[in-house]
Amino acid sequence: MLLSLQNVSKLYTLGGVEIRALDGISIQIDRGEFVAIMGPSGSGKSTFLQVASTLAVPTSGSITLNEREVSAYNEVERARLRNKYIGFIFQQFNLLARTTAQANVELPLIYAKVSASERARRAKEMLELVGLSDRVRNTPAQLSGGQQQRVAIARALVNNPELVFADEPTGNLDSKSGEDIKNLLTKLNKQGRTIIMVTHELDVAEIAGRLIFFRDGKIISDKKQKKKQGKKV
Ligand code: ADP
Ligand code: MG
Repeated sequence: MLLSLQNVSKLYTLGGVEIRALDGISIQIDRGEFVAIMGPSGSGKSTFLQVASTLAVPTSGSITLNEREVSAYNEVERARLRNKYIGFIFQQFNLLARTTAQANVELPLIYAKVSASERARRAKEMLELVGLSDRVRNTPAQLSGGQQQRVAIARALVNNPELVFADEPTGNLDSKSGEDIKNLLTKLNKQGRTIIMVTHELDVAEIAGRLIFFRDGKIISDKKQKKKQGKKV
């Protein structure tokens, strides 16, 4: 078992009103799985990713990663854990604007105190994996949306994380770039990486082997499915 949540809740208080963003979630995810999460806006999908990835702390419940209880970890311990085991892909790419693709990808390795030459080598290798060998010196403004997301994916993977979280990775992309990202995620999962992805697009959810629906902070359905290939582009 790679990741396990037991009866996890997350409450927010907003203007004196209590919001139950996650309401007693229990789930287990094995190494190598590709999980897609769908559900209406406000159903708790992003909160689930944040809590499951230790970016946010649950109000109650237990979370284990590699059989280790992490829900009570402090800030520093959680940051160290994320740097070592977890990669993130966001809808808005979150790249540093005035910084080359290469330097953006190297960033997690700086936090991990990897030497400059090793950083350069690994960043190049990851940019090659996402098909951007010829764009290493470009800044985000000089790249298309799809290329920027591929840089972000290279950055998410450069630490060789066991677990990759993606929150609407194709949400800001045209359909051709969306297909590129679907094919890339499929390839990464085939290489053995565990992926947990939120999407509101059914054709994106179809590339995953397991589909989970959220509503009102709860899991209302959790089913295995046959992975579909993206279109060749
Ligand atoms: P989804 O990603 O499915 O759209 P979210 O996880 O973002 O849903 O939000 C779930 C619920 O929690 C919503 O009602 C949202 O308004 C609320 N929420 C999320 N984050 C916060 C926060 N930081 N403070 C207060 N309420 C929040
Ligand atoms: Mg969301």
